[in-house]
Amino acid sequence: MKNVVLLGSTGSIGTSTVKVAEDLPGRIRLIGLGAGNNIDLLAEQVRKHQPKAISIFDPKKISELRAGIANATDIYSGDEGLLKLATMPEADIVLIAIVGTAGLQPALAAIRAGKDIAVASKEILVMAGEIVMSEAKKHGVRVLAVDSEHSAIFQCLDDKPSSSVRNLWLTASGGPFRQTPKSDFPNITVERALKHPSWVMGRKITIDSATLFNKGLEMIEARWLFDIEMARVKVVVHPQSIVHSMVEFIDGSIIAQLSSPDMCLPIQYALTYPERVVSDRVQTNFAKLGTLTFEEPDTDRFPAVNLARRAGEIGGTLPAVLNAANEVAVEAFVNRKINFPQISELVGCVIAKHRVIDHPTLEQILEADFWARNEALS
Ligand code: NDP
Repeated sequence: MKNVVLLGSTGSIGTSTVKVAEDLPGRIRLIGLGAGNNIDLLAEQVRKHQPKAISIFDPKKISELRAGIANATDIYSGDEGLLKLATMPEADIVLIAIVGTAGLQPALAAIRAGKDIAVASKEILVMAGEIVMSEAKKHGVRVLAVDSEHSAIFQCLDDKPSSSVRNLWLTASGGPFRQTPKSDFPNITVERALKHPSWVMGRKITIDSATLFNKGLEMIEARWLFDIEMARVKVVVHPQSIVHSMVEFIDGSIIAQLSSPDMCLPIQYALTYPERVVSDRVQTNFAKLGTLTFEEPDTDRFPAVNLARRAGEIGGTLPAVLNAANEVAVEAFVNRKINFPQISELVGCVIAKHRVIDHPTLEQILEADFWARNEALS
């Protein structure tokens, strides 16, 4: 039985994680749940799973939440609340699925408290991959991937060192505008960008999948998770989203992980690792699928891939700046203040102006994040 703390329980990854816990009642116990503002769903999860402690973003909502649940559950709030959950003495693993940067400090707190972490929030490794991975090493804990691409690579690598790898191949669905001509990009609406062809996800990551910033962030995430330089992290577009990613080894052999797309699979693997546990949830019928195709990403229509590659190669505070500028740009697009191609343009302008600090401290990373947000808004 693993005691799991789940941060971001009311989101897309969070609700899939709750499903996995319900699939495996004898193996996974949800002992801590952290959410933002969706207190109705959180209260429902609490009634069903009876965690020891929960946390919400806004302290003013505690009394309303308390009215809907039993007294046995401790209720915390804000950033402090997330830290309390991340360091619960009973926790074996902390799964972080909070959108944005709020997951970074709880991730570090969990590691320092000796907990394994399962990372969905890619911002954590994009912003502070060097610090997170070195702290994990120091404290002897695992950083397990929840992102389907990184889970695939982790499964394919099977503990081989990075010296045995020629390339990591991240697959990208290509998003809803894979075949849209560049001339139509300024007319892309928020509604069209929110319709992903193969995955149902939260709003921010869905827009990132449309611009391919999601793939860019994943390249940087892979660089840290698998201790490999950016030049060996490649991207190939695979519209069917069946091959979740691949490892090309130095002898030319390529190992891929495949399945129908369903986030419950990588979530379950992260929570039950190193074991594989029976689940009928994911079924893959190759004869029905028929064809799997691959193509080069078009970096002219989707400049995000090269912007992220550059940020990952230069490193230091630049990936945090790229991430923060992108968050602001996505928000501006969703609020119809800028058009679709301007998301990448805005991020490009902000990263071009940044004075990079190498091997930054956490404080310097957070300062760079703050600077980038102001710069993107100005
Ligand atoms: P959602 O927007 O669906 O969910 C975000 C979750 O974070 C919600 O539970 C939300 O709470 C919570 N939250 C937001 N801000 C705070 C805060 N300050 N304090 C506490 N909780 C907060 O996002 P996704 O589930 O799609 O994505 C989560 C992360 O996982 C992202 O980093 C994303 O890139 C990554 N990811 C997602 C995948 C997917 O398939 N969705 C795949 C791979 C990675 P509430 O709703 O209650 O306000």
